[in-house]
Amino acid sequence: MSQIEQFLPHEGRLVGEDEVSTQDLDYKLLGMHCKSCNAKFFPVNTMCLFCLSESVEKIPLSTEGNLYSYSFIHIAPKQWKVPYGIGYVDLPEGVRIFGKLEDTEPEHWKVDAKVHIEVKECAKIEGQPTQYQYFFKSSKG
Ligand SMILES: [Zn+2]
Repeated sequence: MSQIEQFLPHEGRLVGEDEVSTQDLDYKLLGMHCKSCNAKFFPVNTMCLFCLSESVEKIPLSTEGNLYSYSFIHIAPKQWKVPYGIGYVDLPEGVRIFGKLEDTEPEHWKVDAKVHIEVKECAKIEGQPTQYQYFFKSSKG
């Protein structure tokens, strides 16, 4: 199985070990805070997406947010499981993140509903850096 097949997008969105806080095994996505203009954003970057300042620091992002919008996908490359769901979640920090929904049960998902951002470690590949994936979990799931 190739690395690409091992981490198919329907399993969650991939992030590297520099994009995840693993403190106390409580995995959280890391975002950025700009010390110049106070903007917060995702994903991790070496400069501010708003003012281009390089005075930025990583911050752990909330694990709860509100579903801004979502959709179910029924057509995908042949290795992917369909249907799968994607969406945008607004975090209390003012950051909107894109990701995959845990399931496609219509009654589990509603615009503005609270969702949990689940981050988990991918299976290790010998000699490769640790990869993580995240997805959105409904409170009704
Ligand atoms: Zn800035």
